[in-house]
Amino acid sequence: MIPAPTSPSANADWLARSLAAVWHPCTQMRHHAQAGEAQHLPLIPIARGSGAWLYDFDGRRYLDGISSWWTNLFGHANPRLNAALKDQLESLEHVMLAGFTHQPVVELSERLAALTGGVLGHAFYASDGASAVEIALKMSFHYWRNLGRPEKREFLCLAGSYHGETVGALAVTDVALFKDAYAPLVGNPARVLPSPDARLALDNESAAAVARRAAAALAVHLERHGERTAALIVEPLVQGAAGMVMYDPEYLRLARALCDRYEVHLIGDEIAVGCGRTGTFFAHEQAGIHPDLLCLSKGISGGYLPLSVVLCRSTIHAAFLDDSTARAFLHSHSYTGNPLACRAALATLDIFARDNVLAANQRRAEQLAAALEPLAAHPQVRHLRQRGMIAAFDVMTDDPHFSRRFYRAALDHAALIRPIGNTIYWMPPYIVDDGEIAHLGAATQAALARALT
Ligand SMILES: *Cc1c(COP(=O)(O)O)cnc(C)c1O
Repeated sequence: MIPAPTSPSANADWLARSLAAVWHPCTQMRHHAQAGEAQHLPLIPIARGSGAWLYDFDGRRYLDGISSWWTNLFGHANPRLNAALKDQLESLEHVMLAGFTHQPVVELSERLAALTGGVLGHAFYASDGASAVEIALKMSFHYWRNLGRPEKREFLCLAGSYHGETVGALAVTDVALFKDAYAPLVGNPARVLPSPDARLALDNESAAAVARRAAAALAVHLERHGERTAALIVEPLVQGAAGMVMYDPEYLRLARALCDRYEVHLIGDEIAVGCGRTGTFFAHEQAGIHPDLLCLSKGISGGYLPLSVVLCRSTIHAAFLDDSTARAFLHSHSYTGNPLACRAALATLDIFARDNVLAANQRRAEQLAAALEPLAAHPQVRHLRQRGMIAAFDVMTDDPHFSRRFYRAALDHAALIRPIGNTIYWMPPYIVDDGEIAHLGAATQAALARALT
């Protein structure tokens, strides 16, 4: 099904024009121009997508092993999502959400609330994940202020946490590469507490024991500083940008109890791990708890359009109800609650319900595990781990260019697998079939062999 090339050098044309005019994200642009060198990062013009595959202009294809930065759930150019969006385009593309409302935003809010068992019954919208994080932080602080407790203004995050790259979100992000350059801009940096990272197990310690150790550090901190703490923000079960760091649900149970005890909000950042990624629709379900504020984005629109949402408890919403406008949450973005994005999200939730996606993903996750199994014996592979539709392992190597070498080699084997440092992970769309999972396994093994020579 590879399309005929539009011209022999179509890729090269788009590549040159992009390098001249587009500033690409998360990239040292110079690396794109250094073909043949160890640090070279290829830039690939994509003509179209279909299912789990991306096609370039020269007819080569790549299996999207990381769901286009963790956004895509049901494949590219999904016919059902396309149909829903075409239908929505005919009636309403956008209207401001202050003073107006519309069918997709009402239905989406109702359905998301229902998915939390009605516990998080109010939905506030934005476009990107980082904006949702900023909203959650501001909402928490402003809630305490409205309650006459403005001293509760400190935030807590976990070692290795990633919550986005706007200045406010960087305050709760602990990834030096993204944060250090802007440290002088970050006004109120969060206190960083130990991560429950299961790899930190000592001797024969279980993952639950590591979680209890990390929670004990949280308890010590809250005992001393709980009065001044507004919220703890966590990525439930998997710290994505830290390198798919996985931890035991016990941490979330203990953190929930400590947050209750010290009157501190628990913010669940499920921007990456929500929408079925870890096996349950929300990752926090596996701990049997609810956060007070829940951030969603990425997969919520099926990977189609920028949409983020913060769900909160009615007690939080109620603390803003007053005659005074200053006590209201005055935050807004121009595209807040965009009807097209909300409609894509509704079509995404329809697919979850009609196709029983969570049950199907259980079998798919087992297939991912089986495809990863041969790597367990590799002498340089450590910490093979999996939670639902995320699988990862670390590679022992001193080569500073390992991740580039692997990335390029995987592309040569028709797979988009973009390591984080020395961590290689799979986070494919939920529609990958047996053959595609086998392809992912074979491409990973071949790319690993090449990157290590
Ligand atoms: C991606 C991500 C964000 C930021 O979302 P953007 O849409 O990229 O701003 C925040 N938190 C987590 C856990 C993420 O994975």
